[in-house]
Amino acid sequence: MNFLEEKILTDGVIKEGNILKVDSFLNHQIDIDIMRQMAYEFKRRFRGVEVNKILTIEASGIAIATLLGDLYDVPVVFAKKSETANSTDDKYISKAYSFTHKKMNNVFISKPYLNAEDKVLIVDDFLADGEAAHSLIDLVKQAGGRIAGIGIAIEKGQQKGGATLRSEGYQVESIAIIDSMDWETQTISFRPQAQKEISKTNLKSTHGINL
Ligand code: 5GP
Repeated sequence: MNFLEEKILTDGVIKEGNILKVDSFLNHQIDIDIMRQMAYEFKRRFRGVEVNKILTIEASGIAIATLLGDLYDVPVVFAKKSETANSTDDKYISKAYSFTHKKMNNVFISKPYLNAEDKVLIVDDFLADGEAAHSLIDLVKQAGGRIAGIGIAIEKGQQKGGATLRSEGYQVESIAIIDSMDWETQTISFRPQAQKEISKTNLKSTHGINL
């Protein structure tokens, strides 16, 4: 079991309606140690892939994206879901149905922050039906940029997003993939994955990181 799967089992709460709550480390309070380990794990899994921008969607993807942007030393952009009165920039606009809020959202990025030279690594906290990921892909395509890959903290493998994106040819790397979860028994099973993530010991010795 990897560090994120362990954290989900200890701190996650399964809600009725196929929702996993991970407020204590990802969606409300942010556990920086877990974010840092995720960033290193994405960097390892996307080794050899050229990336010059990290893209996510507000709000919960921002923490992971920031630490990953620090590792790659590239800008981090987050798509917004609501118009801000003080923005007069031209925008790329897409739409995504929100699985958690059960409504359609406009998703947008001001044009100066995405362009045709961008090789974009998309990251997000969850992947369910792939709505958020597809809206981000759409925004990158509108700008003429390229998708370098898609990094997800928690993929809900029972929903169609991961399979669809992989069949479209994208490299999707999810640190934890849930195969099934049951709110009545509070049990989760994960899809087995190669256990090669960077351990804390390796992080410390190879990068001098103080964990
Ligand atoms: P998708 O767009 O792939 O259908 O759903 C992913 C988005 O919905 C994520 O950005 C995340 O905010 C939210 N989401 C979907 N399922 C869950 C879940 O089980 N728990 C939480 N906390 N968020 C979820």
